[in-house]
Amino acid sequence: MTAEAILVTGAAGFIGSHYVRTLLGAGSGFEPSFESGGAAGAPRVTVLDKMTYAGNPANLAAVRDHPACTVVTGDICDAGLVEELMGHHRYVVNFAAESHVDRSIAGAGDFMTTNVLGTHTLLDAALRAGVRTFVQVSTDEVYGSLAAGSWTETAPLLPNSPYAASKAAADLIALACHRTHGLDVRITRCSNTYGHHQYPEKLIPLFVTRLLRGLKVPLYGDGLNVREWLHVDDHVRAIELVRTAGRPGEVYNVGGGTELTNRELTGRLLAACGAGWEMVEQVADRKGHDRRYSLDCTKIRQELGYRPRTDFATGLAETVAWYRDNRHWWERAW
Ligand code: NAD
Repeated sequence: MTAEAILVTGAAGFIGSHYVRTLLGAGSGFEPSFESGGAAGAPRVTVLDKMTYAGNPANLAAVRDHPACTVVTGDICDAGLVEELMGHHRYVVNFAAESHVDRSIAGAGDFMTTNVLGTHTLLDAALRAGVRTFVQVSTDEVYGSLAAGSWTETAPLLPNSPYAASKAAADLIALACHRTHGLDVRITRCSNTYGHHQYPEKLIPLFVTRLLRGLKVPLYGDGLNVREWLHVDDHVRAIELVRTAGRPGEVYNVGGGTELTNRELTGRLLAACGAGWEMVEQVADRKGHDRRYSLDCTKIRQELGYRPRTDFATGLAETVAWYRDNRHWWERAW
């Protein structure tokens, strides 16, 4: 296998599969540069995914038969397998994670194992194999919650949920690997991401798929928690920019720029699905529910010329249409 190959973990999930489809010319996230691809054009991509409930081989259907794509079912915590694969790759993009906050509140064991130990296993193998660049895909949730203003990349990490704590731990381990051993680690901290192929446990696909089935949607607490929304195209474009043009040891915030309370977002989803407020059921608030997230994205804008491109209204309408047209994809989850 060419030394220019990319190992993409967790790529049967929502964002990772979009990244791989786009890298191989079958997605809408960015113009693949093919800078790492050699004569054949497309880069060589190996997907490593455990295929948990969130990993769906159907997400990779568009690239499964692509000659530059190999899909390996396996665990990032499996040191032997990771070591075997790592030797054949120059780049790593680590999407693999347990990613749902509510599940981490119900039980955090898998979050610590995959998000913390799994990331360590990958970094350790990457170091020994002489990997050129390791991109750790992280989240704005590591910063905690803030009432006003926006976090820069130097803000302290004050995670509140077990999910966020496990991601913060992974960030710190990755940065330590850079500072101690010199591995070229780059971290992206992205805001809430939406788009097609997102498992229907997260707010937007949960609400849309429930409304499409004529079911009520559960709104946490007073509904005034604020999140910043980023389209999956813009998320994977930022990751690719950081992989190819970012700097070693640096963290890049990637915000969507559209801040909405959950109540405002619910209003838009009801309108998009032709439903009224009688379809909303107010439920007890999530434990430790962060009030507001907001990212200062000056660094990635000034250094890498990045800006999100997808207008939220357009992206949301397309997302709702996709769930309406692809019931077979999400009905498997119920
Ligand atoms: P997802 O839950 O849709 O997908 C996660 C994937 O990881 C699945 O395919 C799953 O099978 C795989 N996986 C889980 N444990 C594994 C293990 N031990 N070994 C190998 N594979 C494993 O998640 P997503 O929404 O696509 O998120 C991808 C990454 O982006 C995560 O690291 C997440 O923390 C981060 N992120 C997500 C968002 C968001 O809004 N979804 C925002 C910012 C950052």
